[in-house]
Amino acid sequence: MSFGYNGNILHIDLSSRKFWVEHPPETFYRTYWGGRALGLYYMLKEMKPKIDPLSSDNLLIFSPSVITGAPAPAMPRYTVCAKSPLTEAEGESEAGGWWGPELKKAGFDALIIRGASSTPVYLWIKDGKVEIRDARNLWGKDTAETQKLIREELVDDQIRVAQIGLAGEKMVRFANIVNELKHFNGRNGLGAVMGSKKLKAIAVRGTKPINIYNKEKVNEIARKIARRVMENPLSKDLRELGTPAVLRGFYEAGCLPSYNWTTGYFPEGEKLCAETYKKTILKKTVGCYSCPIRCKRVAEVKEDNLFVDPTYGGPEYETIASLGSICGISDLKSIAKANELCNKYTMDTISAGMTIAFAIQCYQEGILNKQDTGGIELNFGNQEVVLMLIEKIAKREGLGNLLAEGSYLASQKIGKGSQKYVHQVKRQEIPMHDPRIKTGVGLSYALADYGTDHMKAPHDPFFKDQNSVGLREMNGLGILEPVSPTDLGEKKVTLFKLLDIYWTLLNILGVCDFGYVPRSLGTLDELLEIIRSITGWKTTWFELMKVGERSINMSRIFNLREGFTTQDDTLPAIFFRHFKDGPLEGTGAIDQEQFRKALRLRYQLMGWDPDTGIPNHGKLIELGLEWLMGEKEE
Ligand code: SF4
Repeated sequence: MSFGYNGNILHIDLSSRKFWVEHPPETFYRTYWGGRALGLYYMLKEMKPKIDPLSSDNLLIFSPSVITGAPAPAMPRYTVCAKSPLTEAEGESEAGGWWGPELKKAGFDALIIRGASSTPVYLWIKDGKVEIRDARNLWGKDTAETQKLIREELVDDQIRVAQIGLAGEKMVRFANIVNELKHFNGRNGLGAVMGSKKLKAIAVRGTKPINIYNKEKVNEIARKIARRVMENPLSKDLRELGTPAVLRGFYEAGCLPSYNWTTGYFPEGEKLCAETYKKTILKKTVGCYSCPIRCKRVAEVKEDNLFVDPTYGGPEYETIASLGSICGISDLKSIAKANELCNKYTMDTISAGMTIAFAIQCYQEGILNKQDTGGIELNFGNQEVVLMLIEKIAKREGLGNLLAEGSYLASQKIGKGSQKYVHQVKRQEIPMHDPRIKTGVGLSYALADYGTDHMKAPHDPFFKDQNSVGLREMNGLGILEPVSPTDLGEKKVTLFKLLDIYWTLLNILGVCDFGYVPRSLGTLDELLEIIRSITGWKTTWFELMKVGERSINMSRIFNLREGFTTQDDTLPAIFFRHFKDGPLEGTGAIDQEQFRKALRLRYQLMGWDPDTGIPNHGKLIELGLEWLMGEKEE
């Protein structure tokens, strides 16, 4: 008997409109556990190298984990994987909400979608039954309307819908996928892959509980954690101020990414802080399946000239910076509107804001002119321009059609030296955390297989001194010594190798990074006990960390097949320069030679060749990946 998982993986071919169910053995589930690890297994086995990510050859995989759906705290997430149309590398993105648990309750552990439909369709999955349904009436509709129409058509208002909006349909390269209108598989443009398959939505409904090995124990730990939410300063902060709480520290220190990263000094930062948010636009906080923290914001604005619909949630920190300070905007209401539009059309707000800021800087430097922009004057700080460009990108109209390619490809088309205003790693626009004050984050940016990402590892300040939560709560993983956030020596590299593996594991398991140490209140012991109680497997941190490491090696091999090299493990040039003004003026530049040495050491710690970054045979054998030997060149 299996616990935690159903033993059913649903395969769907949209070209032939056929589907079938695979029943892998327990060893498969215990080797890959779900999420990106499961997705990469199918991508490496079934996808040919160098395919066009927007062709029917791409696979689109929706994958919760073997523990998703249990009534345990902060474990609602599932991963979507495909070859990314933004990066052309392994693509993945995780979302919370309710959709992942619902898919498990509907009887499936993952969906593997291949081919492409010739006309718009949506999938309807209920308690083990599957239908491919006509979605021509939904194509072009925004997400709230689509969800409403699907629920009406199927006469069930508890159906969970993962879907794309207009940007996905138009294959904007940073289009995302949303469930419950507020929870996003945000990065890597996976909504464009869904659009290329003419798959508008996946509606799921499950009424069967997940089979759990020791439900009493799971409930007992869940109750214990829920009682501590308002006692623990980190989870209390998340509940009361959400992710925008971090903004004040960056603004006051002078490292809030602003004006397309030309400065970290944003004098109007107070207007963007979480306290201002709470006083002005916050309507309520909401959460995800079985999570006591409820950290997500819902914003509302009701003014004569500006209405922000709370249906689409509210901006998180990344959005406030990327559609705010990065574009020179300090009006939270306008940022909330920009967030609403991106969410309604399903576009990643980080890439959208960064691509718009890139265009503004090109215009200011004389690289773009009014002829290129269709007569629009592009200025930092102009909120109307930002809102207009979001509309144009989602609809691929005028300049929006170029920007819908993302800043990297847009700059390749523009030329004229515009490339120096693009800030990306592996073609994905960088998130809103400056690696000059957190070098571990810099290593994670450079090494993320799916393009730069701020959620690849916990951030450096959690490990800065003996009193830091990382040191107090994570010594069970061997973390015993603090390391300064700006250090880039051997101890930092070793620490971040471990942390990358740990957070990759959390992503695979669908565990929210905000639910457990070091970011929040659940302890390592509680997490391990929950995993054991759901699955009945007498697992250990040793086995679990190998699961994370295995998937990192799988994505490394996937990207090697696609032609990526160590040259792609890098940081944008701006981070090798000092802050130019504000409190940090004249400081901060990352030493290029030290960074290069840190990467070489990291490859060695991973069991990869220090020159080529290719995993060695011994490492692949250790991780049970000998089946990938032929996929790498040495
Ligand atoms: S901590 Fe926040 S994002 Fe994470 S599961 Fe809970 S409500 Fe969702």
